[in-house]
Amino acid sequence: MKLVSGCLIGVKCSYNGKARPNKKLIEMFKMGELLPVCPEMLGGLPSPREPNEQKGKKVFTKSGRDVTKEFAKGAKEVMALVKKYNIKEAILKARSPSCGSGKVYDGTFSGKLIDGDGVLASILKRKGIKVITEEEV
Ligand code: SF4
Repeated sequence: MKLVSGCLIGVKCSYNGKARPNKKLIEMFKMGELLPVCPEMLGGLPSPREPNEQKGKKVFTKSGRDVTKEFAKGAKEVMALVKKYNIKEAILKARSPSCGSGKVYDGTFSGKLIDGDGVLASILKRKGIKVITEEEV
């Protein structure tokens, strides 16, 4: 069983209230290979919601609200599932402030990318879980 970003298998949990469906991952989900999660919604944020970006160790909405706590809570909830189901690999949405792996937006909401991981992806990697994006599947 692998973890997957819920938006990638069709859950309408993205900031804009939409899903980001990926055909291959939907097939894997139907085969029972994936556990879908949305860390931002598990942290208590709604969908739709304001876009968020990381700035250093914190996360802010576009209008400047600090949502670091919500992001941390969501990641903690996901980590409990990772432990419970002995998950060793995750396929997460590229460039998200929670799920992104390798590249994330720079915190200026200008579309500029920098090297880094989303809040959840970073914790997963620290715990030894392999993280790839849907672009690497
Ligand atoms: S937090 Fe992750 S699962 Fe939730 S909408 Fe963003 S990219 Fe998708």
